[in-house]
Amino acid sequence: MRRSGARNMIADETAEILSRLGVDEKLYTSGELAVSTPLTGEIISNVKQTGAEEVSSKIEDAHRAFLQWRNVPAPRRGELVRLLGEELRNDKEDLGRLVSIEVGKVPSEGAGEVQEMIDICDFAVGLSRQLYGLTIATERDGHRMMETWHPLGVVGVITAFNFPVAVWSWNSALALICGNTVVWKPSEKTPLTALACQAILKKALDRFGDAPENLLTVLIGAGDVGEALVDNTKVALVSATGSTRMGRLVGPRLASRFARQILELGGNNAGIVCPSADLEMALRAIAFGAIGTAGQRCTSMRRLFVHEDVYDQLVPRLKKAYETVSIGNPLEQDVLVGPLIDRNAFEAMEAALESATKQGGAVTGGGRVDTGLSEAYYVRPALVEMPEQSGIVLEETFAPILYVMKYTELSEAIAQHNAVGAGLSSSIFTLNMREAEQFLSATGSDCGIVNVNIGTSGAEIGGAFGGEKETGGGRESGSDAWKAYMRRSTNTINYSDSLPLAQGVSFDI
Ligand code: NAD
Repeated sequence: MRRSGARNMIADETAEILSRLGVDEKLYTSGELAVSTPLTGEIISNVKQTGAEEVSSKIEDAHRAFLQWRNVPAPRRGELVRLLGEELRNDKEDLGRLVSIEVGKVPSEGAGEVQEMIDICDFAVGLSRQLYGLTIATERDGHRMMETWHPLGVVGVITAFNFPVAVWSWNSALALICGNTVVWKPSEKTPLTALACQAILKKALDRFGDAPENLLTVLIGAGDVGEALVDNTKVALVSATGSTRMGRLVGPRLASRFARQILELGGNNAGIVCPSADLEMALRAIAFGAIGTAGQRCTSMRRLFVHEDVYDQLVPRLKKAYETVSIGNPLEQDVLVGPLIDRNAFEAMEAALESATKQGGAVTGGGRVDTGLSEAYYVRPALVEMPEQSGIVLEETFAPILYVMKYTELSEAIAQHNAVGAGLSSSIFTLNMREAEQFLSATGSDCGIVNVNIGTSGAEIGGAFGGEKETGGGRESGSDAWKAYMRRSTNTINYSDSLPLAQGVSFDI
Protein backbone atom coordinates (compact mmCIF):
# COMPACT_ATOMS: atom_id res chain seq x y z
CA MET A 1 0.00 0.00 0.00
CA ARG A 2 1.37 3.34 -0.98
CA ARG A 3 0.66 6.48 0.96
CA SER A 4 -0.41 9.76 -0.52
CA GLY A 5 1.50 12.98 0.02
CA ALA A 6 0.58 15.89 2.26
CA ARG A 7 -3.11 15.95 3.12
CA ASN A 8 -3.99 19.49 2.05
CA MET A 9 -2.51 18.97 -1.42
CA ILE A 10 -5.68 17.22 -2.59
CA ALA A 11 -7.89 20.06 -1.39
CA ASP A 12 -5.65 22.53 -3.24
CA GLU A 13 -5.69 20.47 -6.40
CA THR A 14 -9.49 20.14 -6.19
CA ALA A 15 -9.89 23.90 -5.92
CA GLU A 16 -7.56 24.40 -8.90
CA ILE A 17 -9.53 21.95 -11.04
CA LEU A 18 -12.88 23.50 -10.08
CA SER A 19 -11.55 26.95 -10.88
CA ARG A 20 -10.18 25.81 -14.27
CA LEU A 21 -13.55 24.24 -15.08
CA GLY A 22 -15.26 27.54 -14.33
CA VAL A 23 -17.11 26.66 -11.11
CA ASP A 24 -17.99 29.73 -9.05
CA GLU A 25 -15.83 29.67 -5.90
CA LYS A 26 -18.78 30.74 -3.73
CA LEU A 27 -20.45 27.40 -4.45
CA TYR A 28 -17.75 25.25 -2.89
CA THR A 29 -15.80 27.22 -0.30
CA SER A 30 -18.13 28.19 2.52
CA GLY A 31 -21.20 25.96 2.34
CA GLU A 32 -22.71 23.64 4.92
CA LEU A 33 -22.01 20.33 3.19
CA ALA A 34 -18.49 19.07 3.96
CA VAL A 35 -17.15 16.99 1.06
CA SER A 36 -14.34 14.57 1.75
CA THR A 37 -12.17 12.55 -0.59
CA PRO A 38 -12.07 8.80 -0.02
CA LEU A 39 -8.39 8.90 -1.01
CA THR A 40 -7.37 10.30 2.38
CA GLY A 41 -10.63 10.95 4.22
CA GLU A 42 -9.72 14.63 4.27
CA ILE A 43 -12.35 17.36 3.79
CA ILE A 44 -11.66 19.01 0.44
CA SER A 45 -14.44 21.56 0.22
CA ASN A 46 -17.65 22.89 1.73
CA VAL A 47 -20.50 23.05 -0.70
CA LYS A 48 -23.57 25.25 -0.50
CA GLN A 49 -26.69 23.12 -0.02
CA THR A 50 -30.09 23.71 -1.58
CA GLY A 51 -32.74 24.29 1.06
CA ALA A 52 -35.71 21.93 0.67
CA GLU A 53 -37.89 25.10 0.51
CA GLU A 54 -35.88 26.40 -2.50
CA VAL A 55 -36.62 23.29 -4.52
CA SER A 56 -40.09 24.25 -5.68
CA SER A 57 -39.08 27.70 -6.97
CA LYS A 58 -36.16 26.15 -8.84
CA ILE A 59 -38.50 23.59 -10.39
CA GLU A 60 -40.88 26.41 -11.39
CA ASP A 61 -37.95 28.08 -13.17
CA ALA A 62 -37.05 24.80 -14.88
CA HIS A 63 -40.65 24.42 -16.00
CA ARG A 64 -40.71 27.93 -17.48
CA ALA A 65 -37.51 27.05 -19.34
CA PHE A 66 -39.20 23.89 -20.63
CA LEU A 67 -42.08 25.90 -22.11
CA GLN A 68 -39.53 27.69 -24.31
CA TRP A 69 -37.09 24.86 -24.99
CA ARG A 70 -39.80 22.53 -26.31
CA ASN A 71 -40.32 24.94 -29.23
CA VAL A 72 -36.70 24.78 -30.36
CA PRO A 73 -36.35 22.32 -33.28
CA ALA A 74 -34.85 19.03 -32.14
CA PRO A 75 -31.75 19.20 -34.41
CA ARG A 76 -31.01 22.66 -32.97
CA ARG A 77 -31.34 21.18 -29.47
CA GLY A 78 -28.89 18.56 -30.68
CA GLU A 79 -26.44 21.34 -31.49
CA LEU A 80 -26.32 22.23 -27.79
CA VAL A 81 -25.50 18.65 -26.91
CA ARG A 82 -22.85 18.60 -29.67
CA LEU A 83 -21.22 21.62 -28.03
CA LEU A 84 -21.47 19.92 -24.63
CA GLY A 85 -19.60 16.95 -26.11
CA GLU A 86 -16.89 19.31 -27.39
CA GLU A 87 -16.52 20.97 -24.00
CA LEU A 88 -16.30 17.55 -22.36
CA ARG A 89 -13.52 16.60 -24.77
CA ASN A 90 -11.65 19.78 -23.78
CA ASP A 91 -12.17 19.14 -20.06
CA LYS A 92 -11.81 15.36 -20.07
CA GLU A 93 -8.57 15.30 -18.11
CA ASP A 94 -9.72 17.70 -15.40
CA LEU A 95 -13.16 16.18 -14.97
CA GLY A 96 -11.74 12.63 -14.96
CA ARG A 97 -9.23 13.63 -12.31
CA LEU A 98 -12.00 15.21 -10.23
CA VAL A 99 -13.98 11.95 -10.44
CA SER A 100 -10.89 10.11 -9.16
CA ILE A 101 -10.54 12.55 -6.28
CA GLU A 102 -14.21 12.62 -5.29
CA VAL A 103 -14.98 8.90 -5.71
CA GLY A 104 -11.57 7.20 -5.58
CA LYS A 105 -11.55 5.67 -9.07
CA VAL A 106 -8.27 4.86 -10.82
CA PRO A 107 -7.50 7.52 -13.48
CA SER A 108 -8.34 5.32 -16.47
CA GLU A 109 -11.79 4.72 -14.98
CA GLY A 110 -12.25 8.41 -14.12
CA ALA A 111 -11.34 9.30 -17.72
CA GLY A 112 -13.46 6.38 -18.96
CA GLU A 113 -16.47 7.83 -17.22
CA VAL A 114 -15.98 11.14 -19.03
CA GLN A 115 -15.50 9.26 -22.31
CA GLU A 116 -18.89 7.68 -21.70
CA MET A 117 -20.35 11.19 -21.41
CA ILE A 118 -18.78 12.18 -24.71
CA ASP A 119 -20.13 9.01 -26.33
CA ILE A 120 -23.70 9.64 -25.17
CA CYS A 121 -23.48 13.24 -26.43
CA ASP A 122 -22.47 11.93 -29.88
CA PHE A 123 -25.31 9.42 -29.76
CA ALA A 124 -27.84 12.08 -28.72
CA VAL A 125 -26.75 14.50 -31.45
CA GLY A 126 -27.53 11.88 -34.11
CA LEU A 127 -30.74 11.00 -32.34
CA SER A 128 -31.89 14.64 -32.45
CA ARG A 129 -32.63 14.04 -36.15
CA GLN A 130 -34.21 10.63 -35.58
CA LEU A 131 -37.08 11.11 -33.14
CA TYR A 132 -39.29 9.10 -35.46
CA GLY A 133 -42.88 8.04 -35.02
CA LEU A 134 -44.60 5.25 -36.96
CA THR A 135 -47.23 5.55 -39.66
CA ILE A 136 -49.86 2.90 -38.99
CA ALA A 137 -52.36 1.25 -41.35
CA THR A 138 -55.91 2.28 -40.49
CA GLU A 139 -59.10 0.26 -40.94
CA ARG A 140 -61.05 3.25 -42.28
CA ASP A 141 -61.14 4.69 -45.81
CA GLY A 142 -59.70 8.17 -46.27
CA HIS A 143 -57.89 8.12 -42.94
CA ARG A 144 -54.29 8.22 -41.87
CA MET A 145 -52.87 7.20 -38.50
CA MET A 146 -49.47 8.11 -37.09
CA GLU A 147 -47.51 8.62 -33.92
CA THR A 148 -45.88 11.89 -32.94
CA TRP A 149 -43.33 12.31 -30.16
CA HIS A 150 -43.37 15.49 -28.09
CA PRO A 151 -41.24 16.92 -25.30
CA LEU A 152 -42.36 15.70 -21.89
CA GLY A 153 -41.54 18.38 -19.31
CA VAL A 154 -39.11 18.76 -16.43
CA VAL A 155 -37.01 15.63 -15.96
CA GLY A 156 -35.73 14.99 -12.42
CA VAL A 157 -32.46 13.06 -12.23
CA ILE A 158 -31.24 11.51 -8.97
CA THR A 159 -27.80 9.91 -9.12
CA ALA A 160 -25.67 7.58 -6.99
CA PHE A 161 -22.15 8.34 -5.81
CA ASN A 162 -20.39 5.66 -7.84
CA PHE A 163 -21.03 7.05 -11.34
CA PRO A 164 -21.22 10.70 -10.35
CA VAL A 165 -21.18 12.17 -13.85
CA ALA A 166 -21.88 9.48 -16.48
CA VAL A 167 -25.39 8.71 -15.26
CA TRP A 168 -26.27 12.39 -15.31
CA SER A 169 -25.11 12.64 -18.91
CA TRP A 170 -27.02 9.51 -20.02
CA ASN A 171 -30.18 11.16 -18.80
CA SER A 172 -29.45 14.77 -19.67
CA ALA A 173 -28.14 14.33 -23.21
CA LEU A 174 -31.34 12.47 -24.11
CA ALA A 175 -33.65 14.70 -22.07
CA LEU A 176 -32.26 17.87 -23.68
CA ILE A 177 -32.51 16.73 -27.29
CA CYS A 178 -36.03 15.49 -26.51
CA GLY A 179 -36.96 19.07 -25.55
CA ASN A 180 -37.00 18.71 -21.76
CA THR A 181 -35.23 20.58 -19.00
CA VAL A 182 -33.33 18.80 -16.24
CA VAL A 183 -33.28 19.16 -12.47
CA TRP A 184 -30.45 17.07 -11.07
CA LYS A 185 -29.91 15.93 -7.50
CA PRO A 186 -26.50 14.28 -7.38
CA SER A 187 -25.39 12.13 -4.45
CA GLU A 188 -24.56 14.22 -1.40
CA LYS A 189 -21.19 12.41 -1.50
CA THR A 190 -20.33 13.80 -4.95
CA PRO A 191 -21.54 17.40 -5.33
CA LEU A 192 -18.24 18.69 -6.75
CA THR A 193 -18.37 16.71 -9.97
CA ALA A 194 -21.99 17.85 -10.35
CA LEU A 195 -21.00 21.51 -10.02
CA ALA A 196 -18.26 20.84 -12.55
CA CYS A 197 -20.78 19.38 -15.05
CA GLN A 198 -23.02 22.40 -14.59
CA ALA A 199 -20.09 24.71 -15.35
CA ILE A 200 -19.12 22.67 -18.43
CA LEU A 201 -22.69 22.81 -19.74
CA LYS A 202 -22.67 26.57 -19.12
CA LYS A 203 -19.69 26.89 -21.49
CA ALA A 204 -21.64 25.01 -24.15
CA LEU A 205 -24.69 27.23 -23.51
CA ASP A 206 -22.61 30.41 -23.87
CA ARG A 207 -21.46 29.23 -27.28
CA PHE A 208 -24.97 28.07 -28.24
CA GLY A 209 -26.37 31.55 -27.72
CA ASP A 210 -30.13 31.65 -27.45
CA ALA A 211 -31.14 28.88 -25.03
CA PRO A 212 -33.48 29.72 -22.14
CA GLU A 213 -31.97 29.98 -18.66
CA ASN A 214 -32.36 27.05 -16.24
CA LEU A 215 -32.11 24.25 -18.77
CA LEU A 216 -30.14 22.46 -16.05
CA THR A 217 -30.62 23.03 -12.33
CA VAL A 218 -28.50 21.29 -9.71
CA LEU A 219 -29.97 20.64 -6.26
CA ILE A 220 -27.37 19.90 -3.61
CA GLY A 221 -28.48 17.84 -0.65
CA ALA A 222 -29.46 14.43 0.65
CA GLY A 223 -32.66 12.36 0.61
CA ASP A 224 -34.90 15.20 1.85
CA VAL A 225 -34.00 17.31 -1.19
CA GLY A 226 -34.51 14.23 -3.36
CA GLU A 227 -37.97 13.74 -1.87
CA ALA A 228 -38.94 17.34 -2.57
CA LEU A 229 -37.97 16.73 -6.21
CA VAL A 230 -39.84 13.43 -6.36
CA ASP A 231 -43.04 14.91 -4.91
CA ASN A 232 -43.17 18.01 -7.12
CA THR A 233 -46.03 17.68 -9.61
CA LYS A 234 -44.22 19.90 -12.14
CA VAL A 235 -41.66 17.11 -12.58
CA ALA A 236 -42.97 14.81 -15.30
CA LEU A 237 -40.36 12.05 -15.06
CA VAL A 238 -37.88 11.07 -12.37
CA SER A 239 -34.92 8.95 -13.34
CA ALA A 240 -33.48 7.70 -10.04
CA THR A 241 -30.26 5.72 -9.75
CA GLY A 242 -29.19 4.23 -6.44
CA SER A 243 -29.89 1.43 -4.01
CA THR A 244 -33.01 -0.72 -4.04
CA ARG A 245 -33.69 0.76 -0.60
CA MET A 246 -33.95 4.21 -2.20
CA GLY A 247 -36.12 2.83 -5.02
CA ARG A 248 -38.58 1.39 -2.49
CA LEU A 249 -39.02 4.90 -1.07
CA VAL A 250 -39.09 6.81 -4.35
CA GLY A 251 -41.10 4.39 -6.53
CA PRO A 252 -44.38 4.45 -4.54
CA ARG A 253 -44.22 8.25 -4.13
CA LEU A 254 -43.96 8.69 -7.89
CA ALA A 255 -46.65 6.09 -8.52
CA SER A 256 -48.99 7.87 -6.10
CA ARG A 257 -48.99 10.94 -8.36
CA PHE A 258 -48.85 8.89 -11.61
CA ALA A 259 -45.47 10.35 -12.55
CA ARG A 260 -43.21 8.54 -14.93
CA GLN A 261 -40.21 6.82 -13.43
CA ILE A 262 -36.99 5.22 -14.58
CA LEU A 263 -35.55 3.28 -11.66
CA GLU A 264 -31.92 2.09 -11.91
CA LEU A 265 -31.33 0.26 -8.65
CA GLY A 266 -29.05 -2.32 -7.06
CA GLY A 267 -27.57 -5.38 -8.73
CA ASN A 268 -26.38 -8.79 -7.59
CA ASN A 269 -24.64 -9.76 -10.78
CA ALA A 270 -23.30 -13.19 -11.55
CA GLY A 271 -21.11 -15.06 -13.99
CA ILE A 272 -21.21 -18.71 -14.99
CA VAL A 273 -18.02 -20.48 -16.11
CA CYS A 274 -18.72 -23.56 -18.23
CA PRO A 275 -16.35 -26.45 -18.92
CA SER A 276 -15.49 -25.22 -22.44
CA ALA A 277 -14.71 -21.64 -21.30
CA ASP A 278 -11.56 -19.83 -22.37
CA LEU A 279 -10.25 -19.68 -18.81
CA GLU A 280 -7.64 -17.00 -19.57
CA MET A 281 -10.38 -14.72 -20.84
CA ALA A 282 -12.71 -15.62 -17.98
CA LEU A 283 -10.01 -14.92 -15.41
CA ARG A 284 -9.39 -11.40 -16.68
CA ALA A 285 -13.08 -10.60 -17.11
CA ILE A 286 -13.96 -11.88 -13.62
CA ALA A 287 -11.06 -9.99 -12.01
CA PHE A 288 -12.10 -6.71 -13.68
CA GLY A 289 -15.78 -7.28 -12.91
CA ALA A 290 -15.32 -8.26 -9.27
CA ILE A 291 -12.25 -6.30 -8.13
CA GLY A 292 -12.32 -3.28 -10.47
CA THR A 293 -13.67 0.01 -9.08
CA ALA A 294 -13.25 -1.68 -5.66
CA GLY A 295 -16.50 -3.56 -6.32
CA GLN A 296 -18.42 -0.28 -6.39
CA ARG A 297 -20.14 -0.60 -9.77
CA CYS A 298 -23.81 -1.43 -9.98
CA THR A 299 -22.66 -4.08 -12.48
CA SER A 300 -19.76 -5.43 -10.37
CA MET A 301 -19.63 -9.22 -10.40
CA ARG A 302 -20.74 -10.46 -6.99
CA ARG A 303 -21.48 -14.15 -7.59
CA LEU A 304 -19.66 -16.76 -9.65
CA PHE A 305 -20.82 -20.28 -10.55
CA VAL A 306 -17.95 -22.48 -11.77
CA HIS A 307 -18.45 -25.92 -13.31
CA GLU A 308 -16.89 -28.68 -11.21
CA ASP A 309 -14.64 -29.78 -14.11
CA VAL A 310 -12.79 -26.45 -14.27
CA TYR A 311 -13.18 -25.25 -10.66
CA ASP A 312 -9.70 -26.38 -9.59
CA GLN A 313 -8.10 -24.80 -12.64
CA LEU A 314 -9.78 -21.42 -12.34
CA VAL A 315 -10.37 -20.67 -8.67
CA PRO A 316 -6.74 -21.02 -7.42
CA ARG A 317 -5.62 -18.63 -10.18
CA LEU A 318 -8.35 -16.19 -9.24
CA LYS A 319 -7.28 -16.34 -5.60
CA LYS A 320 -3.74 -15.53 -6.69
CA ALA A 321 -5.00 -12.46 -8.54
CA TYR A 322 -6.82 -11.41 -5.36
CA GLU A 323 -3.63 -11.78 -3.32
CA THR A 324 -1.41 -9.83 -5.71
CA VAL A 325 -3.61 -7.02 -7.05
CA SER A 326 -2.19 -3.55 -6.32
CA ILE A 327 -4.27 -1.58 -3.82
CA GLY A 328 -3.63 2.04 -2.94
CA ASN A 329 -4.06 5.68 -3.74
CA PRO A 330 -5.33 5.48 -7.33
CA LEU A 331 -3.62 8.73 -8.25
CA GLU A 332 -0.33 6.84 -8.03
CA GLN A 333 0.90 4.69 -10.89
CA ASP A 334 -0.02 1.05 -11.45
CA VAL A 335 -2.67 0.94 -8.73
CA LEU A 336 -5.74 -1.05 -9.76
CA VAL A 337 -7.89 -0.87 -6.62
CA GLY A 338 -8.69 2.40 -4.87
CA PRO A 339 -10.55 2.99 -1.61
CA LEU A 340 -14.13 2.34 -0.58
CA ILE A 341 -16.25 5.47 -0.50
CA ASP A 342 -16.50 5.71 3.31
CA ARG A 343 -16.59 4.01 6.69
CA ASN A 344 -20.17 2.74 6.22
CA ALA A 345 -19.10 0.88 3.10
CA PHE A 346 -16.20 -0.69 4.99
CA GLU A 347 -18.42 -1.73 7.90
CA ALA A 348 -20.95 -3.26 5.50
CA MET A 349 -18.16 -5.28 3.90
CA GLU A 350 -16.88 -6.49 7.29
CA ALA A 351 -20.38 -7.48 8.37
CA ALA A 352 -21.01 -9.37 5.10
CA LEU A 353 -17.75 -11.31 5.42
CA GLU A 354 -18.61 -12.21 9.00
CA SER A 355 -22.03 -13.52 7.93
CA ALA A 356 -20.48 -15.41 5.02
CA THR A 357 -18.02 -17.12 7.34
CA LYS A 358 -20.86 -18.12 9.68
CA GLN A 359 -22.72 -19.53 6.67
CA GLY A 360 -19.76 -21.79 5.83
CA GLY A 361 -17.76 -19.54 3.50
CA ALA A 362 -13.97 -19.71 3.17
CA VAL A 363 -12.58 -16.20 2.71
CA THR A 364 -9.48 -15.26 0.71
CA GLY A 365 -8.52 -11.60 1.19
CA GLY A 366 -10.74 -9.07 2.93
CA GLY A 367 -9.79 -6.73 5.77
CA ARG A 368 -8.58 -3.17 5.89
CA VAL A 369 -5.21 -2.18 4.46
CA ASP A 370 -3.24 -0.16 6.99
CA THR A 371 -2.48 3.27 5.55
CA GLY A 372 -2.21 5.28 8.72
CA LEU A 373 -5.15 7.35 7.46
CA SER A 374 -7.94 6.97 10.00
CA GLU A 375 -10.78 8.05 7.67
CA ALA A 376 -9.65 6.41 4.42
CA TYR A 377 -10.91 2.86 3.85
CA TYR A 378 -8.70 0.75 1.63
CA VAL A 379 -9.58 -2.94 1.67
CA ARG A 380 -8.29 -6.18 0.22
CA PRO A 381 -10.88 -7.56 -2.20
CA ALA A 382 -12.41 -10.80 -0.89
CA LEU A 383 -13.15 -14.03 -2.71
CA VAL A 384 -15.43 -16.28 -0.67
CA GLU A 385 -15.93 -19.94 -1.57
CA MET A 386 -19.47 -20.79 -0.47
CA PRO A 387 -20.96 -24.25 0.03
CA GLU A 388 -24.28 -22.94 -1.32
CA GLN A 389 -26.10 -19.73 -2.22
CA SER A 390 -27.09 -18.91 1.35
CA GLY A 391 -28.69 -15.72 2.75
CA ILE A 392 -25.75 -13.33 2.55
CA VAL A 393 -25.09 -14.23 -1.09
CA LEU A 394 -28.59 -13.08 -2.00
CA GLU A 395 -27.77 -9.51 -0.88
CA GLU A 396 -25.89 -6.76 -2.68
CA THR A 397 -22.98 -5.59 -0.53
CA PHE A 398 -21.48 -2.58 -2.28
CA ALA A 399 -17.85 -3.65 -1.85
CA PRO A 400 -15.39 -6.04 -3.55
CA ILE A 401 -16.75 -9.42 -2.40
CA LEU A 402 -17.11 -12.28 -4.87
CA TYR A 403 -19.00 -15.39 -3.71
CA VAL A 404 -17.85 -18.48 -5.63
CA MET A 405 -19.95 -21.64 -5.92
CA LYS A 406 -19.47 -24.94 -7.75
CA TYR A 407 -22.09 -26.37 -10.09
CA THR A 408 -22.68 -29.58 -12.04
CA GLU A 409 -25.65 -28.92 -14.38
CA LEU A 410 -26.06 -25.66 -16.34
CA SER A 411 -29.83 -25.59 -15.78
CA GLU A 412 -29.24 -25.73 -12.03
CA ALA A 413 -26.63 -22.92 -12.26
CA ILE A 414 -29.07 -20.75 -14.25
CA ALA A 415 -31.80 -21.38 -11.68
CA GLN A 416 -29.43 -20.30 -8.89
CA HIS A 417 -28.29 -17.36 -10.98
CA ASN A 418 -31.88 -16.11 -11.25
CA ALA A 419 -32.81 -16.85 -7.63
CA VAL A 420 -31.96 -13.38 -6.28
CA GLY A 421 -33.98 -10.18 -5.96
CA ALA A 422 -31.94 -8.05 -8.35
CA GLY A 423 -31.79 -8.51 -12.12
CA LEU A 424 -29.19 -6.16 -13.57
CA SER A 425 -26.24 -7.84 -15.29
CA SER A 426 -25.04 -11.36 -16.04
CA SER A 427 -22.48 -13.28 -18.08
CA ILE A 428 -21.62 -16.75 -19.23
CA PHE A 429 -18.18 -17.96 -20.24
CA THR A 430 -18.44 -20.77 -22.77
CA LEU A 431 -17.35 -21.76 -26.26
CA ASN A 432 -20.35 -24.06 -26.57
CA MET A 433 -23.07 -22.32 -28.60
CA ARG A 434 -25.84 -24.40 -27.07
CA GLU A 435 -24.91 -23.20 -23.60
CA ALA A 436 -24.51 -19.59 -24.76
CA GLU A 437 -27.85 -19.57 -26.53
CA GLN A 438 -29.61 -21.22 -23.57
CA PHE A 439 -28.30 -18.44 -21.32
CA LEU A 440 -29.50 -15.77 -23.78
CA SER A 441 -32.91 -17.39 -24.29
CA ALA A 442 -36.25 -16.83 -22.54
CA THR A 443 -35.34 -19.59 -20.08
CA GLY A 444 -31.85 -18.23 -19.44
CA SER A 445 -30.66 -15.20 -17.49
CA ASP A 446 -33.50 -12.96 -16.26
CA CYS A 447 -31.34 -9.82 -16.23
CA GLY A 448 -31.48 -6.64 -18.30
CA ILE A 449 -27.88 -7.18 -19.43
CA VAL A 450 -26.87 -10.66 -20.58
CA ASN A 451 -23.33 -11.15 -21.89
CA VAL A 452 -21.32 -13.97 -23.44
CA ASN A 453 -17.56 -14.16 -22.87
CA ILE A 454 -17.28 -10.73 -21.32
CA GLY A 455 -17.82 -9.74 -17.71
CA THR A 456 -20.86 -8.18 -16.09
CA SER A 457 -19.51 -4.63 -15.95
CA GLY A 458 -18.40 -2.04 -18.49
CA ALA A 459 -21.47 -1.58 -20.71
CA GLU A 460 -21.38 0.61 -23.82
CA ILE A 461 -23.77 3.54 -24.24
CA GLY A 462 -25.29 2.26 -27.52
CA GLY A 463 -27.44 -0.34 -25.75
CA ALA A 464 -30.31 0.32 -23.36
CA PHE A 465 -28.98 0.09 -19.81
CA GLY A 466 -30.94 -1.21 -16.83
CA GLY A 467 -32.31 -4.28 -15.14
CA GLU A 468 -35.35 -6.20 -14.02
CA LYS A 469 -36.99 -7.14 -10.69
CA GLU A 470 -35.52 -5.22 -7.73
CA THR A 471 -33.20 -3.36 -10.11
CA GLY A 472 -36.33 -1.38 -10.96
CA GLY A 473 -37.10 -2.14 -14.63
CA GLY A 474 -35.84 1.20 -15.97
CA ARG A 475 -33.81 1.66 -19.14
CA GLU A 476 -31.62 4.60 -20.03
CA SER A 477 -28.80 5.51 -22.43
CA GLY A 478 -28.91 3.91 -25.91
CA SER A 479 -31.28 1.95 -28.17
CA ASP A 480 -34.82 3.37 -27.87
CA ALA A 481 -34.48 4.50 -24.23
CA TRP A 482 -35.20 8.06 -25.49
CA LYS A 483 -38.89 7.20 -25.73
CA ALA A 484 -39.23 7.39 -21.93
CA TYR A 485 -38.24 11.07 -22.13
CA MET A 486 -41.00 11.98 -24.60
CA ARG A 487 -44.75 12.04 -24.75
CA ARG A 488 -46.27 9.89 -27.50
CA SER A 489 -49.45 11.02 -29.21
CA THR A 490 -51.39 8.81 -31.59
CA ASN A 491 -52.99 10.88 -34.36
CA THR A 492 -55.84 9.82 -36.65
CA ILE A 493 -56.62 12.17 -39.51
CA ASN A 494 -59.81 11.92 -41.56
CA TYR A 495 -59.36 13.35 -45.07
CA SER A 496 -62.55 11.71 -46.46
CA ASP A 497 -66.01 13.27 -46.77
CA SER A 498 -67.69 10.81 -44.36
CA LEU A 499 -67.31 9.80 -40.71
CA PRO A 500 -66.90 6.01 -40.49
CA LEU A 501 -66.52 4.85 -36.88
CA ALA A 502 -63.91 2.32 -35.84
CA GLN A 503 -64.94 -1.33 -35.37
CA GLY A 504 -67.95 -0.71 -37.68
CA VAL A 505 -69.92 1.00 -34.89
CA SER A 506 -72.91 2.99 -36.17
CA PHE A 507 -74.19 6.08 -34.36
CA ASP A 508 -76.46 7.99 -36.77
CA ILE A 509 -78.26 10.95 -35.27
P1 NAD B 1 -28.22 5.52 -2.40
O1 NAD B 1 -29.47 4.80 -2.64
O2 NAD B 1 -27.72 5.65 -1.01
O3 NAD B 1 -28.32 7.03 -2.97
C1 NAD B 1 -28.61 7.27 -4.34
C2 NAD B 1 -29.24 8.63 -4.50
O4 NAD B 1 -30.57 8.61 -3.95
C3 NAD B 1 -28.53 9.75 -3.77
O5 NAD B 1 -28.52 10.91 -4.57
C4 NAD B 1 -29.37 9.95 -2.52
O6 NAD B 1 -29.26 11.23 -1.94
C5 NAD B 1 -30.75 9.72 -3.10
N1 NAD B 1 -31.79 9.40 -2.11
C6 NAD B 1 -31.66 8.65 -0.99
N2 NAD B 1 -32.85 8.56 -0.36
C7 NAD B 1 -33.75 9.24 -1.11
C8 NAD B 1 -35.15 9.53 -0.99
N3 NAD B 1 -35.86 9.07 0.05
N4 NAD B 1 -35.73 10.26 -1.93
C9 NAD B 1 -35.03 10.73 -3.00
N5 NAD B 1 -33.70 10.51 -3.16
C10 NAD B 1 -33.07 9.78 -2.23
O7 NAD B 1 -27.09 4.82 -3.32
P2 NAD B 1 -25.52 5.05 -3.37
O8 NAD B 1 -24.88 4.49 -2.15
O9 NAD B 1 -25.22 6.47 -3.75
O10 NAD B 1 -25.13 4.16 -4.64
C11 NAD B 1 -24.94 2.78 -4.60
C12 NAD B 1 -26.19 2.03 -5.01
O11 NAD B 1 -26.63 2.49 -6.29
C13 NAD B 1 -25.94 0.54 -5.20
O12 NAD B 1 -27.03 -0.16 -4.73
C14 NAD B 1 -25.80 0.40 -6.71
O13 NAD B 1 -26.05 -0.89 -7.19
C15 NAD B 1 -26.80 1.39 -7.19
N6 NAD B 1 -26.51 1.84 -8.56
C16 NAD B 1 -27.34 1.40 -9.54
C17 NAD B 1 -27.08 1.75 -10.86
C18 NAD B 1 -27.94 1.25 -11.98
O14 NAD B 1 -27.85 1.79 -13.08
N7 NAD B 1 -28.77 0.24 -11.78
C19 NAD B 1 -26.00 2.60 -11.16
C20 NAD B 1 -25.19 3.05 -10.11
C21 NAD B 1 -25.47 2.66 -8.81
